[in-house]
Amino acid sequence: MRLAWVLPLAFVGVAFLGCPSAVEPGDPTPAPVEPPAECAALWDDGSVQDRWSSLASLTDPVWAGWAPADATIVWAEEVDAGWCHALWSGGAVAGYALLENGPTYGFGAYGYLMPWSNGGFLDDLVVQPASVTDWLGEHGVASAVLLPRQSSFDALVQLQLPIHEAFHVAVQGPTWFGEPAVSWPAWMRLDLPRAELEACYQAGDFDAEHGALVQAVEAALAGGDVCGAAQSFIAARAARYAAADGAGLTVGSTDPLGCADAEAVYEGLEGVADAVSWGPLVDAGIASDAEWLSRLEATNAGADPFYQLGSGQLFALDRAGADATAIVSAFIAGTSADAGVHALFVAEIDALCGR
Ligand SMILES: [Zn+2]
Repeated sequence: MRLAWVLPLAFVGVAFLGCPSAVEPGDPTPAPVEPPAECAALWDDGSVQDRWSSLASLTDPVWAGWAPADATIVWAEEVDAGWCHALWSGGAVAGYALLENGPTYGFGAYGYLMPWSNGGFLDDLVVQPASVTDWLGEHGVASAVLLPRQSSFDALVQLQLPIHEAFHVAVQGPTWFGEPAVSWPAWMRLDLPRAELEACYQAGDFDAEHGALVQAVEAALAGGDVCGAAQSFIAARAARYAAADGAGLTVGSTDPLGCADAEAVYEGLEGVADAVSWGPLVDAGIASDAEWLSRLEATNAGADPFYQLGSGQLFALDRAGADATAIVSAFIAGTSADAGVHALFVAEIDALCGR
């Protein structure tokens, strides 16, 4: 797979360098597909080439036409001469640049570029230095996720994380600024403090609920019957929500939500972003079933478990044979938590297994 990627790149590069006379004065300058010499070794690195080969292979749509290969991603690293950048856009590396400045990583491990503002906290987190923004603009790119070329994450997460973040930017991002989005519902708020959800998860038997979902996913991966474990998960969650309501638990200060509605927000925002990044990696065999299960298992009530609980429900449904396209359509058309991940999970399990 790596060979298939390297060959076309080399061919295009040679063709471009060999035919400079094809560029007439006044013609738009073709986008260079060869990196600046100062950066070449960074991008020729085997782990980077493996990451790109994997990303290029993930062309199957996973969310209303969006596929991981469609992600818009910038990787960067500083060298003596400046900052080396590589742009992934349109399913391939679309350009390289050596720029004066590097990206701003507003979220620590990564940064965003988005073209909107609404006076909220996100405004300062989605801007990039002018040299970066101008270069991306030359490529027709107004929104992207930007990351270091290498990080301390393992190789698999260095592929999964950019897909997860790119989904946030491309599919969810417009709604965060009140802009219309064709593939994301508008009801998922960003003003709910996620730390407050810990009390919700502690209101019932979290381990029983989480363990039942892990069992359902294991059964689905093995081609077995998901019904018993899925129904145990649903029952444990219903009992927890009843206890949380009984205790008067709410999340957020302005227009607070009950636990079920607040968790639905985060199972949408983060659970779906995990589902559309981990799911295709497992389907393609880039992540093993065991790697996915260990990710699913490794959470607790205080560790923002909505990533795993949200993606686990969608993954179990998909592997159990539910109509993923119909589920995504229902989610996008929804106007409240009534069309959230868990509500759809309950409806699908009821249909699959009977009440
Ligand atoms: Zn996220």
